[in-house]
Amino acid sequence: MAIEAVYFDGETARDNRVVVSLEASGLQFSGEDVPAQAWNLSGLTAVDPPHMGHALRLSHDGHAGARLSIRNDAFTQQLLIAAPHLKGGFHPKRALRLFLWIGGGLTILAALIYLTLNFAPQRLAVLLPDAWSKRVGEQMEASLVQNAKVCQTPDGEKAIAAMLANLADGSPDMPPLRVRVYDIPIMNAFALPGGFIVLTRGLMREASDPGEVAGVLAHEVGHVAHHHPEAQMIRIAGMQVLISVATGTSGGNNASSLAGLAAILKSTRDAEREADAYAVSMLSSARVDPMALKHFFEKILKEEGESSSSAFSNLGTLFSTHPVTTERIEQIKPLPAGVMLRPALSEEQWKDLKEICG
Ligand SMILES: [Zn+2]
Repeated sequence: MAIEAVYFDGETARDNRVVVSLEASGLQFSGEDVPAQAWNLSGLTAVDPPHMGHALRLSHDGHAGARLSIRNDAFTQQLLIAAPHLKGGFHPKRALRLFLWIGGGLTILAALIYLTLNFAPQRLAVLLPDAWSKRVGEQMEASLVQNAKVCQTPDGEKAIAAMLANLADGSPDMPPLRVRVYDIPIMNAFALPGGFIVLTRGLMREASDPGEVAGVLAHEVGHVAHHHPEAQMIRIAGMQVLISVATGTSGGNNASSLAGLAAILKSTRDAEREADAYAVSMLSSARVDPMALKHFFEKILKEEGESSSSAFSNLGTLFSTHPVTTERIEQIKPLPAGVMLRPALSEEQWKDLKEICG
């Protein structure tokens, strides 16, 4: 079957009448001003999806810019049988191109996320709306403490408020906080997005001086002030996206799983250093002896360095969420001689705090 068609060479504006035939090797055509050509079938692309009653415009991989316009439904039908890829749908070459395009996009996205995670979580964390951080923090707290009850006695709560007020002395920029003690046997303390700080019964048990609790609390306030929990949350959420991109999975609800939450508690080395520096400066301004925190760290290092078994494995211990190192301990120096130290709590308040969990 040979039919008449129109050929544009892609270089001149002129249309050329050609005679086209469909051969096993492909389309062959020639015309008055067009030397004989053969376009193999696999190189053909339909410029628009084929529609009966309309001209079928074809291009060819080997002839950039050239077009062959066929207006003959019977011929078009035969051609579509011989070269079904012209109907659209799956086309290996086009699919590969699309795949590379999407792959390229994802690679760029992954690279952007990677850069963001490495350089900006802390800066991004500052931009999170407070109401949002608070909601997230509150939900995280509920998930992490599981069914542990809040330790609440009127006198115990007054003691916490008094300790915070003492710490705020000389640090007027202390961020808004909500501090709670939970009936959890393991010794830990952590800060969550939105200014939520959790202390445990285990911590109260281990502390032998109000200055030790005040030091740990000041350290957690340091995490809050530096937006470390929010930054860590951004880092982990970003990692989830990276993993999803890399593995092609949706990532599921890992971010909301306990393992994901526990990972948010883990501080980076830099964050620990910043929180310690904040704590030491806060304690100094409040004239509470920072050596109590130093002694407490030494105690933890000695005890937890030996065993790390835990009942609340999703929380980990103070040692695992705020790794205590000799380097951290060495950074804590006594206040200059002559500074009038004062206790973080009165003896009576300290007794009330110790007994907050009954
Ligand atoms: Zn810490």
